[in-house]
Amino acid sequence: MENAYKETKFLMDKYHISANKNLGQNFLIDDDVVNKIVETANISKEDLIIEIGPGLGTLTSRMLEKAGKVIAIELDKKMVAILQDRFALYKNFELINEDVLKVDLKNLIQKNKKNTKIVANLPYYITTPIIMKLIEDKLNIESITVMVQKEVAQRLTAEPGTNLSGAITYTVNYYCIPEEIMVVPNSSFIPAPEVESEVIKLLIRKEPPVKVENLENFFKLIKVSFMQRRKTLINGVTNSNFMEKELFKQILTKLEINEKIRGEDLSLEDFAKISNECIKISK
Ligand code: SAM
Repeated sequence: MENAYKETKFLMDKYHISANKNLGQNFLIDDDVVNKIVETANISKEDLIIEIGPGLGTLTSRMLEKAGKVIAIELDKKMVAILQDRFALYKNFELINEDVLKVDLKNLIQKNKKNTKIVANLPYYITTPIIMKLIEDKLNIESITVMVQKEVAQRLTAEPGTNLSGAITYTVNYYCIPEEIMVVPNSSFIPAPEVESEVIKLLIRKEPPVKVENLENFFKLIKVSFMQRRKTLINGVTNSNFMEKELFKQILTKLEINEKIRGEDLSLEDFAKISNECIKISK
């Protein structure tokens, strides 16, 4: 873990930095992990890389050498001052001092007219809203390569219809092809987080894998199915007033789906079929 470690220690000393826990600051100090993230992102001079939470710039510095352009979005003013200093001579570097959840990424990507990839060691306290923003805003991006908490990684990359899956698994699988890249021990960071981490890659699909008549209805159905994990699909649907019980039972019978089934037992295709039938029946 030589270079990233020395670099981090040096910058923290030079600028009198202590990591801000509230901002999810865990700096990467493991060269193998840094290299693996950059290699996985498959960066070329044609690419615009949007980095979320560059921190002291460990990943950023490696990506600046390979990418056409890197736009880094960092909330912490202290980090911003360091990054401005550190990368002042790079013409392909742009820094946005803002909460990533407030940035108009669509506009940013359109303006730059480049093949766009997202890369980040994410702040764990807002992993889910960031991932949801990246995939639900239907951005024109090729892939998302991110470090997240291991537990979250397992949910995001789970096979739909297995017991590791949750509502977000289905959303991710609808929009992306997820891949687990590597598990990262907490000793790879300063300070060490309490949990293990994992690098994952989400390759954005060009076409959705199933045909859905009404996306809002489809995602709502998935959401209500997972609101009470231990309960049956019918319970979730009727308790949340998604649909009247008898009507929903008719749909399941028609599709030859067992009434006692739980959300986590259904595939993406099953949810699509049920949702499409709900739309048909309510017309
Ligand atoms: N990329 C650095 C690294 O790998 O060492 C730092 C990663 S650290 C886990 C997460 C970074 O996200 C921190 O620099 C933190 O200040 C920044 N951050 C936290 N909340 C943010 C937000 N809402 N928008 C943008 N950046 C944020």
